Amino acid sequence: MEKDNEKHIKRMAELLRQGDTLTDLSCPACSAPLFRLKDGTLWCAKDEKKVIIVKEGEEPPKTATNTGLEALEATLMAKVQDVQDRIQRTENVDELQKLTSALSELLDSLEKVKKMKKG
Ligand SMILES: [Zn+2]
Repeated sequence: MEKDNEKHIKRMAELLRQGDTLTDLSCPACSAPLFRLKDGTLWCAKDEKKVIIVKEGEEPPKTATNTGLEALEATLMAKVQDVQDRIQRTENVDELQKLTSALSELLDSLEKVKKMKKG
């Protein structure tokens, strides 16, 4: 399982490097953060498949815990975007490696937060 998770994180990092965007949506099946590909498709890097989100027009009720997690999630998302920016700009291999591993950790945390929100 640990290995699978590592692979998943690497795939997510790869998508970000290609310029695909991380969304604040999570996969209905596995809670992993979803990506928006350049053609507009929502993609789950964990299941490696297209995801179609049906908008219900109804927000789930928010508990205090949920609000805290959402703030944390927003912070992590902002950091991911920051690191993604730097990855796209850097031409230094050492820096790229550092950024990629920072990105992996951020994505890992983000997924955990999404799971906590769900459960
Ligand atoms: Zn999934």
